[in-house]
Amino acid sequence: MTVSSRVPARSSTLRLEPDHQLWLDMLARLRAHHPDICRHWFEDIEPLGLDGGVLRLRAHSPVHRDYLSRQCHQPFNDAARTASGNLITVKFLGPDEDFAAARPASPAAVEPKLPARPVAEADAEGPAARAAIEALRSPGLVLNPDYTFENFVIGPENRMAHHAAVCVADKPGTVYTPLFVHGSVGLGKTHLLQAICLAIHQNKPGSSIYYTSCDDFMNQFLEAVQAGIMTRFRQKFRHVDVLVIDDIHTLARRERTQEEFFHTFNALYQARKQIVLSADCKPEEIPHLEERLVSRFMSGLVCDVQPPSYETRIEILKTKSRIRGFELPPEVARFIAERIDSNIRELEGAISKLQMLASVDRRPIDLELARSAFNEPGGRVEPKIQIQTIIDAVTDYYGVKVTDLQSKRRQRSIALPRQVCMYLARKNTRYSLEEIGGYFGGRDHTTVMHAVRTVEDRRAGDGDFGKVITALEERLKGEGRAASA
Ligand code: ADP
Ligand code: MG
Repeated sequence: MTVSSRVPARSSTLRLEPDHQLWLDMLARLRAHHPDICRHWFEDIEPLGLDGGVLRLRAHSPVHRDYLSRQCHQPFNDAARTASGNLITVKFLGPDEDFAAARPASPAAVEPKLPARPVAEADAEGPAARAAIEALRSPGLVLNPDYTFENFVIGPENRMAHHAAVCVADKPGTVYTPLFVHGSVGLGKTHLLQAICLAIHQNKPGSSIYYTSCDDFMNQFLEAVQAGIMTRFRQKFRHVDVLVIDDIHTLARRERTQEEFFHTFNALYQARKQIVLSADCKPEEIPHLEERLVSRFMSGLVCDVQPPSYETRIEILKTKSRIRGFELPPEVARFIAERIDSNIRELEGAISKLQMLASVDRRPIDLELARSAFNEPGGRVEPKIQIQTIIDAVTDYYGVKVTDLQSKRRQRSIALPRQVCMYLARKNTRYSLEEIGGYFGGRDHTTVMHAVRTVEDRRAGDGDFGKVITALEERLKGEGRAASA
């Protein structure tokens, strides 16, 4: 399969031909420079075309669109600019959005329909009321497309919680309501809660699902009280099909919010709607939680998630790498799983670190790299490269003088070695763009950025030039290593 055949083309109704090549170049750059945000489904993103400096990219679901808008805007803009050499901005669209369409609320968290204006609150005016009404319009927290059942690794530590979550997603409001999942931090509670939302959204697109944190529930409640728009608040929370509230233990000591939540809970429960809650402890262990809430929380199914075993950790590492589009060698997975044994979030952090190190140094993800990431013996000692070493190597190779590099002279025989110096300094030292620009003839940071881009592009496109740069880098590393030894 060629790379381009993986990018779907369905553009019959569009005004512009999609710019596939630009998108493929961007994708290559994103994978090289921002591996941590890249996901395997980026290959399903559809480039709709370039119009007036805006490149429109279509994601295959609103959840994916939200992930792109929230996490990826800047890197995509940078990639579009570098790949095209033009000032392009990227706009992300969902599957049903048109060119001109504004960004609608994510259907994964459908906003319950509010009555136009409840009569009792007809006089709720003023900035506070408007702000509270605006807060009530929020479609809930954004769901992470990675948090699916498919990406959840099942082990003895979470089997029951996973099974219950799947049942709830299959038949909301019938089997276990409420479902209460508890466990300490980083063990997958939020992942399971969001997996329920994503699955219901997919299987029953018409359902209204509201996913949020207990803190957000509390803030919306307090704003609604202050603004005198409690009818609206109740309309919103008591008329959803599925209410999912993360970290409900923050209800501790919030008496008024507890009272309101009790009524919300009862209304949904009586209407046979689904409620899903998570907390860092069992219901009866939440400090200062009213007894009647404790018993409500225990009336459905309470289950826990425990720290993952070694085998589960290995599987999680493999799954997380696969989501990011690469295979983690088994010995590296074992190496990490032996060192991080409680919090799964840290396993993910370790993968991000490896990916970054691998991309900065252009090295494979192997045991040697993992050892350096964990600062353990056997890892490669990073050579310390000085700017002077770079200057020596470049002036030697190109036969120019350092005073030329630091001058304002612009002829090509000097401009190119100067750009190579800037590129090597940027890639191999910790100096900022401003410092590098200042050093080489008092230039500003945009000149350095331009130099880096020019050398990168030429390195990719011109084999002989590429060899020169690689040889210079080898020399730097050799001298750096000798200096640090
Ligand atoms: P919690 O809400 O319990 O603090 P999260 O749900 O935020 O924890 O999980 C932390 C990280 O660990 C997330 O990236 C999540 O995807 C991952 N994770 C936790 N459990 C699993 C699992 N069983 N399989 C795959 N990933 C998991
Ligand atoms: Mg959580």
